Amino acid sequence: MSELFPFSKEHEMLRSAARDFAQNEIAPIAAEFDESGEFPYKTIKKMGEMGLMGIEIPEEYGGAGMDTLSYVLALEEICKVDAAHGVIMSVNNSLYCFGINKFGTDAQKEKFLRPVASGSSIGAYSLTEPMSGSDAGTMRSRAVLDGDAYVLNGRKSWVTSGPVADFMVVFMMTDPDKKQKGITAFLVDAKKPGFIRGKKEPKLGIRASATSEIVFEDYHCPVEDRLGQEGEGFKIAMAVLDAGRIGIATQALGISEAAYDAAANYANEREAFGQKIGEFQGISFKIADMKTRIEASRLLIYQAALAKENSKITGQRYSLEASMAKLFASETAMFVSHAAVQIHGGMGYSKELPVERYFRDAKITEIYEGTSEIQRLVIARIELNQR
Ligand SMILES: Cc1cc2nc3c(=O)[nH]c(=O)nc-3n(C[C@H](O)[C@H](O)[C@H](O)COP(=O)(O)OP(=O)(O)OC[C@H]3O[C@@H](n4cnc5c(N)ncnc54)[C@H](O)[C@@H]3O)c2cc1C
Repeated sequence: MSELFPFSKEHEMLRSAARDFAQNEIAPIAAEFDESGEFPYKTIKKMGEMGLMGIEIPEEYGGAGMDTLSYVLALEEICKVDAAHGVIMSVNNSLYCFGINKFGTDAQKEKFLRPVASGSSIGAYSLTEPMSGSDAGTMRSRAVLDGDAYVLNGRKSWVTSGPVADFMVVFMMTDPDKKQKGITAFLVDAKKPGFIRGKKEPKLGIRASATSEIVFEDYHCPVEDRLGQEGEGFKIAMAVLDAGRIGIATQALGISEAAYDAAANYANEREAFGQKIGEFQGISFKIADMKTRIEASRLLIYQAALAKENSKITGQRYSLEASMAKLFASETAMFVSHAAVQIHGGMGYSKELPVERYFRDAKITEIYEGTSEIQRLVIARIELNQR
């Protein structure tokens, strides 16, 4: 299907490099790292050397200087093989690099963007807290200006790459009375005092991606490391999530494709009652629905990628396209991976095949970077306000 799209030679080259790397270097270790929950330093470092950790960032700041479609095509190949490598890549590219490139000063780009976009350091994004997820306006962490630095205190939770990140963009309250409008974004360095890595989260899926709490205890953040103005944090967090949601939609697409390939091959091989199971309508209709939803996800993702690319010229938001792509692709990943386990029967439940991993990995795509309920809120609000 995707052959119908007029991709450039550069798109095809990047996609094929990402595919070769994923098949040759990630596929052989994916199950082992899923089992151990270890962070895959070596392969992530190589992805950085290949330019995959800052695809859309200009070359002058250490990135590959390519477009959103390039990002999506490369990420899809990584996620087809391992969704854990995929989320590390997605967070680094969209939740960390994208925001600094869009809202940062030249000095901030030099200090915080270059090392992460070039792949020599790892970036993270921290909005969520134990008592505040979908409703960011209720966050309890505080940043108080004291002379020429803010003093940051609080407990942030569920930070992807938290246990390994070198730098992080963190959102804290500077004016609690203003709720969402009182949130400010800060760029922080994990080596500085007051940045404490907390409890590592044991997880159902994407187990090789490290997730943890981060505790701030009197962390001093110089005023020049504040991202944007005081009170602009929520706006920045949401703009960055638009970009992030295209990445998570792509992660979901990769998981769906892997689960679908496994299921379609199995349906053509496995026999029961004297025929291939794919010849039973109960199975073949599942295959038809899986394939159709996957291709619909792909179209929504490519549309969102083009809308994001367009926004670089027009400045227009692409929240609608990003939320629709994330909502549909993540629910498709759950549908497809569930059906793939069922088509495999008992073997779908076995750790000897990767299908059970696809099923476990798919679930997170409906939760992080805005749950499916939140995507529906975003889509409905935009649609109803336009009338
Ligand atoms: C593995 C993992 C990695 C993560 N990585 C990061 C990260 O790197 N950085 C970061 O900042 N966060 C991260 N998160 C946090 C994630 O984004 C939140 O878990 C998510 O936004 C939901 O917030 P919550 O868990 O507090 O759920 P809640 O907001 O408490 O929601 C609970 C339930 O209520 C529903 N709900 C809430 N509000 C509404 C509403 N208005 N209408 C209808 N239903 C509603 C939700 O959809 C959900 O079903 C990660 C989470 C996980 C599990």
